[in-house]
Amino acid sequence: MSTAHTRGQTLEKPAPAALEVHGVHKWYGAHRVLDGIDLTVRPGEVTVILGPSGSGKSTLLRVINHLEKPEIGHVSVGGELIGVKRHGDRLKELSERTILAQRSRIGFVFQSFNLFPHLTVLDNVAAAPVATGRLTRAAAAELARELLDRVGLGDKAGAYPRQLSGGQQQRVAIARALALRPGIILFDEPTSALDPELVGEVLAVIKDLATSGTTLVIVTHEIGFAREVADRVVFIDGGRIVEEGPPGQVLDRPRHERTRDFLAKVL
Ligand code: ADP
Ligand code: MG
Repeated sequence: MSTAHTRGQTLEKPAPAALEVHGVHKWYGAHRVLDGIDLTVRPGEVTVILGPSGSGKSTLLRVINHLEKPEIGHVSVGGELIGVKRHGDRLKELSERTILAQRSRIGFVFQSFNLFPHLTVLDNVAAAPVATGRLTRAAAAELARELLDRVGLGDKAGAYPRQLSGGQQQRVAIARALALRPGIILFDEPTSALDPELVGEVLAVIKDLATSGTTLVIVTHEIGFAREVADRVVFIDGGRIVEEGPPGQVLDRPRHERTRDFLAKVL
């Protein structure tokens, strides 16, 4: 832990939170989709977000990755404000260029994989580090090979996405998210589009990331998986956090009726 010297005193300076969501409200017309969300995620922590369809889970992830802008509130990642900067006591918007640079520090894995269909698996993983000027083509290809090995697809580097199963495509998407060495990775229902027999291989890769200390925020309905990997489970309904806590508490002894109802439906 770093220390700071202030007026002769030595103060311990805590590491910034990996993610802080402060009083975030998001609405579309009269529809309040996020209604005051506060969430702090510590470095290395694995947070699973649960909630019924339409409760605002995807919108929350999209606000964190500033694919959406909140009407009120703000988000910081690794201690840095996302999408805005402080200007006195006001928040000012950032340039598109800065936003892109910030976004590259946040990995995002979608339900629908979203691989580039015209690129090989290797190029899908290597593209972003080259495009952002972080790595040469050769170094990015080497990194991509390492990451493909890590997700168990070392032998698929030359294949195209259409030649892979959904589970394999999603593992490529995870390798692609890792290629920018993000401080945090957001997953939006990463296994919902998969045939049941392919879910396990994707969850195994995410579990490997979880146990190796990567900071993860995962929206999923896989309750067994949440119980195994989550440090914390957050239950959202109607754009609000209804309850949160360790999985043993939220999943096995939920305090709120709405949480109990939801769990009864998905378990
Ligand atoms: P979840 O991921 O929990 O299923 P979402 O965050 O996708 O929920 O959506 C929450 C609510 O916000 C839904 O009622 C959805 O219809 C609405 N919504 C999401 N995006 C938009 C949009 N771009 N315009 C209008 N309504 C939206
Ligand atoms: Mg969603």
